[in-house]
Order: sequence, then C-alpha cells, then structure tokens
Amino acid sequence: MRATLLYGAGDVRVETVPDARIVESTDAVITVTNACICGSDLWPYKSMEPSEVGRPIGHEAVGVVEAVGADVRTLKIGDVVVMPFAYSDGSCVFCHEGLHTSCLHGGFFGNADVGGAQAEAQRVPQADGTLFVLPVGKADALMPSLLTLSDVMGTGHHAAVAARVGPGKTVAVVGDGAVGLCGVIAAKRLGAEQIIIMGRHADRITLAKEFGATDVVSERGAEAVEQVKKLTDGYGVHAVLECVGLDQSMETAIGVARPGGAVGRVGVPQGETMPASQTAFYENVTVSGGPAPARAYIEELLPDILDGLIEPGRVFDRIAGFDDVPDGYRAMDEREAIKVMVEP
Ligand SMILES: [Zn+2]
Repeated sequence: MRATLLYGAGDVRVETVPDARIVESTDAVITVTNACICGSDLWPYKSMEPSEVGRPIGHEAVGVVEAVGADVRTLKIGDVVVMPFAYSDGSCVFCHEGLHTSCLHGGFFGNADVGGAQAEAQRVPQADGTLFVLPVGKADALMPSLLTLSDVMGTGHHAAVAARVGPGKTVAVVGDGAVGLCGVIAAKRLGAEQIIIMGRHADRITLAKEFGATDVVSERGAEAVEQVKKLTDGYGVHAVLECVGLDQSMETAIGVARPGGAVGRVGVPQGETMPASQTAFYENVTVSGGPAPARAYIEELLPDILDGLIEPGRVFDRIAGFDDVPDGYRAMDEREAIKVMVEP
C-alpha cells in the first residue's frame, strides 16, 4: 500500500510499504477514505532529525472497516468509521472518566508501532473502543466535517471545555489555525457572548468571523494583551483557548485572561516549562487542557454536524492526492493552506 513517511525536516515521501494488517485479535484494519495533515505534523516537519527508515505520519482518518480481529465485537466489515487520533479500549478507568487519551491500553497513531493515517489503510488497535461507526455512506457530503471529529473539532471543543466556556462568557482564541477556528465554533456552540480571534491571516479571520468570532486582534505580545483588555472593559476574558503551543502564545493566553479566568491549552507545548507562571498565580488563572479525548466528544458533536448546525469541515481549503501530500505540508507550513485533506 502507499503511505506517507517523514524522513527529516522538510522531507516528506509517499512510498509503497507493507500492507496494514491485523496484529492483535482486538485490531481492525480500515481503508482510509479521507485523512488530513495536522498542525501538529508541522512540528516534526520543521525539526525532525534525518532518519534512514522514515517515520509513518498521520493520525486523523475516516474510512471503511476492511478486516477485524477475532475478538472485535461491535464492528463489521463495511462499516464507515471515524478514527480519533488516539486509540483506546473504551473500558478502563480513564476511558470511563472520558479521558481516552490516558487509556491504560491506549496510544497514538502516526508512528512505527501502529503506522500512520496518511496512507491507503491503517491498522487500528483496540478497534471496538477506538472506532466510531458513522450513520452515513463513505461519500457523504458531510465527510469533511465528520473527519474533523478525529482531531481538530474535538480538540477545539476540548480547549473550550478546559477554559470553562459557557453562556455569556467572554472568550479569546489564541491561534487562527484549524484548531483555533474549531475553537471558535466550540465557543459559540457553548454559548459564549464575545469571541475574540487572535490571529493575522486574512483568510482565517474571515472564516473565524463566519464561525462566530465577534472581534479580531492581530497584534502580538504586550500589544495584543492591551487590545484584548480594551475590548473587555479593561479586565481580560473569562476563557482563553490556547491553540498554538509556543511560549509566546501561552504568555499571551495567560496575559489576556481575566483574574479568576481559565486557559484551556491544546497546542502541543514546545517548551518544558510554563511561561507566565507568576502572572497566572497572582491572578488566580487556571491553566488546564492537554491532548483532547476526541473519542469522548464524538457523541456530543456528531448530531450538530448531521443537523448542519456546525460546519467544521470548512477548515479544509485544499485537497491533495497522494502525489500532492509533500506539497500539502509545504503549503500548510507556509500558511498558504489552512488545512489539507488527503484523499488516498
Ligand atoms: Zn481505556
């Protein structure tokens, strides 16, 4: 089968690799009908040390169940499914608490162990717990939005939940990538009154406004903090969605939070220590978040997609066949594309 491998910074290759296959009796194999490139894939794309063997990449997919192991109970061949970016058994203590990313038998896609989803097929461990059967056909027009349940929509929602967004709250979203844009959708969906998008790319800001952003702040650093305070009677916002992961974005996120407010962070932190710790302390700002338990949120978010109430699939502004995947990475890295959907 064809699969995408990362060989080092800027070195994405699509190659023929051994077919995905059942290894454990709890596995399934899916034919990938749609995958995508994630903002988090851009971190290794920018920084990975050269590798002789390459690393399989991709962790977001919708697909069709092609094979199941002997102990798979709830799935059948032909089911159309969404695959969250982490696999989980659905039955351990943390899965029962809705924290599937900490599953005792779980792990992440996009590595040598389980393979990556920017491929023709994907091996899925803990298939019963991981895969969610969709009530539509594989060519459904809603598929781009359904694909976002594998990561970006669940992640934007997680940021909003961690930031305690609710009716009447003021919200700032740090970062105008696909996750930030889904964070705007999530904040609006949870009843936020004011949603400030913090970003500087015209196409993304336009989409953010269509998703429900009420204000735009394009400055950075101290100037950005000042602008957000101006928009909120000088106080700052109740809830901040940190969707970048850099020290500067976290510093801004804590800086724009109102005393007693909360920051929900979903950008993969690129530093070991948390910036602005003293500001967070003295202003009683809660900092929460982490990898989103996307599997836990599908039941809640799916009906709104099926009913057309939210359209997170609009974050995809480019479709790539396999041959175009390397250029898709370049386009996302250079901010020429918001998010690239891969159609194997
Ligand atoms: Zn579990």
